[in-house]
Parts: sequence; C-alpha cells; structure tokens
Amino acid sequence: MAGTITTIALVAHDQKKDEMADFVATHLEAFAGYTLFATGTTGKRIMERCPELKVTRLKSGPLGGDQQIGSMIADRKIDALIFFVDPLSPLPHDVDVKALTRLAEVYDIPMALNRATADYMMTAFKLA
Ligand code: PGA
Repeated sequence: MAGTITTIALVAHDQKKDEMADFVATHLEAFAGYTLFATGTTGKRIMERCPELKVTRLKSGPLGGDQQIGSMIADRKIDALIFFVDPLSPLPHDVDVKALTRLAEVYDIPMALNRATADYMMTAFKLA
C-alpha cells in the first residue's frame, strides 16, 4: 500500500491532452499542494492552461519522457501516476507506455489511466 502522496506524474497522449488540461484545471487547488512532474508536451499544455501551477517538465514521451518517469517511480521519487492513454491511436512508443505502467504496478503506486479513475483518485487523496 502506498504511503503519503507528495509527488504526482502527469502524462497524456495527444488526443487526451485537452482532457488532461481540463482535469488539472478542475482540481487546481488540490494539485497546487503536490510536486508535479509531466512529460514535455503534456506539461507545456498544463502550464498554458494553469499558469499558476509549477510543473517540472521532462522529455517528451516518445523521446524518453515516459522512461524518465518510470525511472523516478523505481527510485521512489514519484508517488502516483495519472496517465491519460489514448486507446484509439497507434503509438510509436507503445513499448515505453507499457514499461511505464508496468513499473507503476511493480512499485504499487496509485495509477489512473483515464479521467474517471483520476477524479476518484483526487477525491481519495483529499480524504486521506
Ligand atoms: P508528451 O508525451 O507529453 O511529451 O506528448 C506523452 C506521451 O505520449 O507519452
């Protein structure tokens, strides 16, 4: 069971980036209380939508950003993963996507792969 959540990683595939920006804006107050990391383009889109948030941007997902987040999970530097996966588009970095979700499973951190679950997760964090 995961311990205290202080650091959250955010990743969204291209067709899901608007949804991610909306989701973060909806939970803006809550997100302001966490240390946030994101893959490059996802982080850029979140900060454009929510300029008051500080988000550390890693490399773009296809260029290694997913793997950077996976490595941080393995080092216990990320406590939760919110990853809006696009199930309808083929992705060149599909193996990286699988590797990232696998590490979240291995290290047993909370992981939301769609908005409905992510909304529940943010509510649960609030109650914890
Ligand atoms: P991006 O990466 O935020 O840089 O687009 C996300 C991904 O596709 O893994």
